[in-house]
Amino acid sequence: MTVNLLDYERESLAVFCEGLGEKRFRATQLFRWIHQKGAREFDEMTDLARSLREKLKVRAYVKPLDVVSRHVSSDGTTKWLFDVGDGNAVETVYIPEHDRGTLCVSSQAGCAVGCRFCSTGHQGFSRNLKAGEIIAQLWFAEHFLRQQTGRDERVISNVVMMGMGEPLQNYTELIPALQAMLDDHGYGLSRRRVTVSTSGVVPMIDRLGADCPVALAVSLHAPNDSLRDQLVPLNIKYPLEQLFSACVRYLDHAPRDFITFEYCMLAGVNDQIEHAREIVGLVSRHGGGKTWCKFNLIPFNPFPASGLQRSGPDQIAVFAKILCDAGITTTLRKTRGDDIDAACGQLAGDVKDRTRVVERMARQRTVMFQPMRPFNDKTEKV
Ligand code: SAH
Ligand code: SF4
Repeated sequence: MTVNLLDYERESLAVFCEGLGEKRFRATQLFRWIHQKGAREFDEMTDLARSLREKLKVRAYVKPLDVVSRHVSSDGTTKWLFDVGDGNAVETVYIPEHDRGTLCVSSQAGCAVGCRFCSTGHQGFSRNLKAGEIIAQLWFAEHFLRQQTGRDERVISNVVMMGMGEPLQNYTELIPALQAMLDDHGYGLSRRRVTVSTSGVVPMIDRLGADCPVALAVSLHAPNDSLRDQLVPLNIKYPLEQLFSACVRYLDHAPRDFITFEYCMLAGVNDQIEHAREIVGLVSRHGGGKTWCKFNLIPFNPFPASGLQRSGPDQIAVFAKILCDAGITTTLRKTRGDDIDAACGQLAGDVKDRTRVVERMARQRTVMFQPMRPFNDKTEKV
């Protein structure tokens, strides 16, 4: 049986090397060749003994994802569509900023949660990505961009698991991929710069805290159970009190001292003054009186089947002000890179499953509302 070495974090690679009758430290060399240098041919790995390279050729391979397309916005935002077989595709987006480069990564083809406002949710669930398919998105993007810019140092400084899929419903495959991202012999990303975004799989939030604590973003979208049950159906299983308690527990392990709540602004649905006030109540009832969360308001990206509309800017501003006045740091994502929108539109129908979530991510950047407390640049930069 041959294996895809991208599926392994370093410890499993060491076990694999031992199985070949090799010393464990060979795994570190191999891991560095694959992830730091972007090598996929064993003959490139010149400091490995020829005998090991021959064994590897028989037993293993490094399998990247096939690229269906690449679109580049004038602001440098780059979006890849990767073929994952059986008519499924996932998207990965690179968002360059002056002080960081963020990669938005997919964890599943489709999604089983079925949020009302999400086009991935409307498509349904196809399958979990393998760890190797998750890390292959970073492997490819990092080495492609390095080659393109002629740089030898790291290009991608941040990863957000905000592409297609619910990462905490693909936990077993997510963890090795996160470990490879964090590994100093891999991508060496800081825990603060790797964010898992979840719609609220409560038991897995606890497990993530124990196994691999990274920055956490929770997709809230509603301030009470009756509305959240409708928008994020997973809420029926894990209601808000449970979710908020899990978030507060996560803070004991988290690399940062706050959780980010994402809140998609839907006109007339969840964007009213009373909803903002409910949020303030919910936040203040948890966290023991400390400042423990931030809000990121996302203007809804409409799609026909949703029957929903984006909140107007004035409504969003009123909503944000209520949160800010209560001392909650609140940011708003603004669209950017509109010129790749057309290109995205051209892709529609070419491939069965594709996400508009990532497409939306590609067009967004974050701007701040004026919080009551002075904005601390250090804590905000993920
Ligand atoms: N499944 C995970 C991560 C992927 S979705 C999660 O739900 O957190 C990434 C973010 O995009 C989530 O906050 C999600 O709620 C939001 N989102 C999905 N569809 C959207 C849309 N049409 N407009 C704006 N935000 C959307
Ligand atoms: Fe799945 Fe996240 Fe979309 Fe909800 S918002 S359907 S959890 S990808």
